[in-house]
Amino acid sequence: MTAARKVNLLDFDREGLRMLFAQIGEKPFRADQVMKWVYHRHVDDFEQMTDLGKALRNKLADVAEIAPARTLLDRHSADGTRKWLLGMDGGNAVETVYIPEPTRGTLCVSSQVGCGLNCRFCSTATQGFNRNLAASEIIGQVWVAAKALGNQPHQLRRITNVVMMGMGEPLLNFDNVVRAMSVMRDDLGFGLANKRVTLSTAGLVPLIDRLSEVSDVSLAVSLHAPNDELRTELVPLNKRYPIAELLAACARYAAKRPRTSITFEYTMMKDVNDRPELARQLVRLMRRLPAKVNLIPFNPFPGAGYQRSEPEVIAAFQKILLEAGVMTMVRRTRGDDIDAACGQLKGQVLDRTRRQAEFRKRIEEATAHAA
Ligand code: SAH
Repeated sequence: MTAARKVNLLDFDREGLRMLFAQIGEKPFRADQVMKWVYHRHVDDFEQMTDLGKALRNKLADVAEIAPARTLLDRHSADGTRKWLLGMDGGNAVETVYIPEPTRGTLCVSSQVGCGLNCRFCSTATQGFNRNLAASEIIGQVWVAAKALGNQPHQLRRITNVVMMGMGEPLLNFDNVVRAMSVMRDDLGFGLANKRVTLSTAGLVPLIDRLSEVSDVSLAVSLHAPNDELRTELVPLNKRYPIAELLAACARYAAKRPRTSITFEYTMMKDVNDRPELARQLVRLMRRLPAKVNLIPFNPFPGAGYQRSEPEVIAAFQKILLEAGVMTMVRRTRGDDIDAACGQLKGQVLDRTRRQAEFRKRIEEATAHAA
């Protein structure tokens, strides 16, 4: 007989870890001590946890492990951006990207192996969907990056922001993403403020409402078009949750959180969604709620049927929004020399055709459950 599989402590948030410790007859503060070793000092070997007694260290080593994903590739961009390809069970791999800026360091984290939403202009979509990541595989991405960067939550904070903007649709992996985001924000975890953790969604309306009930993270929405006809073409999910419903859910999310705004991502594609008239339509939508717009110059990938808008076209689009009082930034392209820019993440997605049906079922279940 094989030994029982060990639990991976990266799968637990503080509450879950305390419960686990209660089950093995240990006090809650022991769980807190372990969290500090794991997330503040990146220790993955119980032997090194010197403020735990030898007996407890042995007990933990018998039943548990701290098992982050294996790093398959670690690439550095000329602009300082860094990308890790992390191996997951079953031969799959996802990508995680670190984007350093003078005043902050943002980590872009994946939530699924591949993605099934089929947005027309996204490289991840061409990979198809394989499966949801476990909570340990999500928080493990932060752990690997934090360790590699020498992050210290209370002294030297290399990672100041986490964005769930990597591969996958985070709301379709709801429970695991929420648990991982809880560790990101826990003082015993990575200690980030609520507003410094952002979840980005293509717009699953019922799940935005469900998120609103359990979490206070920042919300970003991938809009990309200001009318349903164009948006349905670019983001097929729009057929199911059209713009009016999506913005109503965003308004409900914002209403509960004074002083926060929702970020709307808008990828700028030449002659597709970059006309001045569309900027004016966008203004009318954005006026209804506390919104910021993030214009993302389209990032090409092999086989993409789109091109990046010209810089002056992007500037003109931005100007219309700004003059109407809509806060609008143009996202600087980072890490494109190592295929780490928005929409360029691919990882390694095995066995994807068989999984498409499963993915569709998952959307049905997840949204029905939340409704
Ligand atoms: N599924 C979630 C999380 C992914 S976030 C979501 O849709 O929000 C990744 C962001 O990059 C999204 O805003 C996505 O629309 C954008 N994006 C996708 N492909 C892109 C590309 N080729 N160039 C620039 N941005 C892209």
